[in-house]
Amino acid sequence: MGKPTGFMEFTRNAAPYRDADVRLLDFREIYTEHDETRLTTQGARCMDCGVPFCQSNEGCPVYNLIPEWNDLVYHGQWREALERLHKTNNFPEFTGRVCPAPCEGACVLGITDPAVTIKNIEMAIIDRGFAEGWVVPNPPTERSGKRVAIVGSGPAGLAAADQLNKVGHTVTVYERADRIGGLLMYGIPNMKLEKEAVVDRRINLLREEGVEFVSGIEVGDGSNGSLDAAALIGENDAVLLATGATVPRDLPIPGRELNGVHFAMEFLTANTRSLLDSRHADSAYISAKGKHVIVIGGGDTGTDCIGTSLRHGCKSLVNFELFPQPPASRAPDNPWPTWPKIFRTDYGHEEAASQFGNDPRVYSISSTEFVDDGEGNICAVRTVDVAFKNGRFENIPGSEREWPADLIFLAMGFLGPEHPVSDRLGLNYDERSNYQAEYGSYRTNVENVFAAGDCRRGQSLVVRAINEGREAAREIDRYLMGSTQLP
Ligand SMILES: Cc1cc2nc3c(=O)[nH]c(=O)nc-3n(C[C@H](O)[C@H](O)[C@H](O)COP(=O)(O)OP(=O)(O)OC[C@H]3O[C@@H](n4cnc5c(N)ncnc54)[C@H](O)[C@@H]3O)c2cc1C
Ligand code: SF4
Repeated sequence: MGKPTGFMEFTRNAAPYRDADVRLLDFREIYTEHDETRLTTQGARCMDCGVPFCQSNEGCPVYNLIPEWNDLVYHGQWREALERLHKTNNFPEFTGRVCPAPCEGACVLGITDPAVTIKNIEMAIIDRGFAEGWVVPNPPTERSGKRVAIVGSGPAGLAAADQLNKVGHTVTVYERADRIGGLLMYGIPNMKLEKEAVVDRRINLLREEGVEFVSGIEVGDGSNGSLDAAALIGENDAVLLATGATVPRDLPIPGRELNGVHFAMEFLTANTRSLLDSRHADSAYISAKGKHVIVIGGGDTGTDCIGTSLRHGCKSLVNFELFPQPPASRAPDNPWPTWPKIFRTDYGHEEAASQFGNDPRVYSISSTEFVDDGEGNICAVRTVDVAFKNGRFENIPGSEREWPADLIFLAMGFLGPEHPVSDRLGLNYDERSNYQAEYGSYRTNVENVFAAGDCRRGQSLVVRAINEGREAAREIDRYLMGSTQLP
């Protein structure tokens, strides 16, 4: 424990984002430079509790050794902190930027005071590691002779690839998109996670360590140019499916077919691809410039649509949420150390308020119709306010409204994975249409086929995908070698 009285002397002081008005002018990351004095002071607030809930299952899903690296940062031992961090997390530069930090919700100091700024410290440790040149390729010295194919290059696939490669297996990652990274590349926008400077940097490192990446190849049933999943099984000693939960929830109300109504991912993916291909010069994206935008659905996806629309220069922005506004502090049925379900202002909400003067969120509202302008384009949305009673939503009579809209982004979550690969292999599904494979074993009903990440558990978080990728790698190694040293 760095400073026994640190938690009494210092208050929480999280690293600020760049000023909202300024960061809206570009797609660069929202974060400010790391401030070493602030970080070491914040590290001193860690109490090194007898039972550190932050690193338990209730807190950090990869079990980061948080009190240890808080202490090392407080003492200025950054390199040692990096070593401790890499023991449990393959990609702290991703989680340090985008993780909602359930660890902070479980921080023991959080019972009486604001939690330690764990996520800021994690990001600073790994950024320093790269800046100092401490993170270098470390290929295995021996190869096992076993081949593993991974389908999908999101955080689950990448974490598994890293772990399996470390113990000497020959790993090939297949990705249907033109760039590697899954939602790290084409879901989470550049301002939250820079693609070239941060995502590609790690992928290049994995490549230098011996992981092979094949992009632009769909794994399927072998038709229409896809790579036959059944052939992959024959050619490899094990196959890991990490294909994500990519089927979006739709809103089948009248007018759904109108021009201007899009799934969020159509908007976000095209925006990032055009940004990376040409800095938007190719115009190959859905532009929100000068448009009335309505984002339906909250969560990270909704926030990212808000932030992206604002950067395009939208005329107005509203965000509909079916559920009521969460409370300002924990409700009695949401005690510490569970994830606090409270009202939060994310970067996109702050930016909308700075641009238009108010928070864009409207709660307890349901869309009933998309209105046609007479030429097949959307011009408005009709809504009704709802109340949540006895486990269901009820419309409030007389609360009908109409909102001007040129663009609608549907950000209502994802239903599960697509099924071409799994149908081809004869995989069983769980009751929510995910690939069936038990947490901890990751084995599907098909011999030598494993599944991990959002395709197995449903839509979740980057850190949970990393956890599943690591653990699935451990089980694959055990399956291939009879025992395993992997954590
Ligand atoms: C817009 C958005 C923002 C988000 N923001 C956050 C955030 O801020 N913080 C956070 O923690 N989580 C966030 N999430 C959730 C997080 O990104 C996911 O939980 C995580 O990426 C899941 O990882 P994965 O590896 O299981 O799958 P994915 O990242 O979805 O990767 C799966 C990959 O498999 C590929 N694939 C699928 N089928 C095939 C096939 N047949 N052949 C070849 N390739 C295939 C896909 O193209 C994709 O690249 C966000 C999600 C979205 C949609
Ligand atoms: S990965 Fe997420 S939960 Fe774990 S220490 Fe980092 S911010 Fe906290």
